This record gives sequence, structure tokens and C-alpha cells, in this order.
Amino acid sequence: MKAAIKEIFVQHWCKSCDRSFGTLVNIFKYNQYMKGDKSVMDVFPDEPAPFREILIQDYRRRNGGIYYPMCDECWNKIEEEE
Ligand SMILES: [Zn+2]
Repeated sequence: MKAAIKEIFVQHWCKSCDRSFGTLVNIFKYNQYMKGDKSVMDVFPDEPAPFREILIQDYRRRNGGIYYPMCDECWNKIEEEE
């Protein structure tokens, strides 16, 4: 029998449009990153940047820092305006 991969859903509400967004994360890696002794690049080197951003925001929400989550759509809007 294959062991189930345990995942948690990390969820944010976009500061710009109020929509919820998030991603499933392997709980083992999630805890590794949240312990704080590894960078997000060390734990998730192969994941896309928006995925890492969700994790970075979650870390800040727990540990302090600029917590400002934004969904992909709003990120794209900002990039178009620039
Ligand atoms: Zn948004």
C-alpha cells in the first residue's frame, strides 16, 4: 500500500480583490520551511514563483513581516500597468 502524501491547504485572501486563493503543500516540507532555518528556495527549489510567494506570505503571517497576499490575477494587473 502506498503511503498517503499528507498535504495542507495554505489559503490567503487577496488584499486587492478579496478573493481567496492558495495551494496544497506537502506538510513535511511546509513544516521544514516554517521552522525558519531554511529559505523557501532551499525547501521548494522546483516549485514556481507564485507557489513560493504563497508560502512566504504564510511565513510572514505567522512570524511577522509585511503580510500582503495578492492573487495571480492582481499580480498580472500590476504588471500590465507598469
Ligand atoms: Zn486579487
